[in-house]
Amino acid sequence: MAGSSEGVEDKGLPPILEQRCILQSEALSQYILETSVYPREPEALKELRQLTATDLRNAMATGPDEMQFLSMLLKLMNAKKTLEIGVFTGYSLLATALSLPHDGEIIAIDTNRKNFELGLPFFEKAGVAHKVDFRQGLALPILDELMKEEKYKGWFDFVFVDADKSNYMNYHARVVEMVRVGGVIGYDNTLWNGSVVAEAMAERPFPWYIMDSRDAILEFNAYLAADPRVEICHLSISDGLTLCRRLS
Ligand code: SAM
Ligand code: CA
Repeated sequence: MAGSSEGVEDKGLPPILEQRCILQSEALSQYILETSVYPREPEALKELRQLTATDLRNAMATGPDEMQFLSMLLKLMNAKKTLEIGVFTGYSLLATALSLPHDGEIIAIDTNRKNFELGLPFFEKAGVAHKVDFRQGLALPILDELMKEEKYKGWFDFVFVDADKSNYMNYHARVVEMVRVGGVIGYDNTLWNGSVVAEAMAERPFPWYIMDSRDAILEFNAYLAADPRVEICHLSISDGLTLCRRLS
């Protein structure tokens, strides 16, 4: 809200326009999905989303509006080599695979192979399974292994980070070296259910698993804002997405 009221009063606009953040309206969010996202969602992604919806943890899947945005970004960047940390059933991974050229390459890391395998038939059906190199295990040791190979320094065009929030700082320390200069890292959930402003939302108590990682997200957001190695853009799409473009 900061800084918005001045301009609004000057132009005599109604106070509703002070609400700049679309996350404040479920109805607006639904409007975007139904008008612009679902009608253009590739069939394989739609089917994977529907399968994932039957899983109790389906809220972990990346929002279709966010992936529509990232799919366009990947194409605008001509991205060919990407890294994903946190796969679940593969909604963001499949959207990425569909956005890369036929010889695109994705290294995808998750501790859980079963969930990845649930989604795998949709990759096969869409003809993009060959782009994915799935590595099962904890992300930090896998990243450390990758970094030992000279090839992976400045190798990736795009990195999507969507695993344990308490490790975002540790992931950043590594992936900022692995993405090429001019490449982009996307950190998901950087508004963390709105809990980043929990004090201002006292009427809405947050569950323990949100509050548990809240300090890590706050610390991470503050760190990125001051990190001279990257240009950042903190978007209020979905649950918050921070894009970092590597500068040096
Ligand atoms: N990007 C996915 C999508 O669009 O469906 C959602 C990812 S989900 C929010 C987070 C995933 O991170 C889970 O599948 C979990 O198994 C994985 N994960 C959590 N901690 C991890 C770790 N330390 N190393 C590797 N994977 C981890
Ligand atoms: Ca997420």
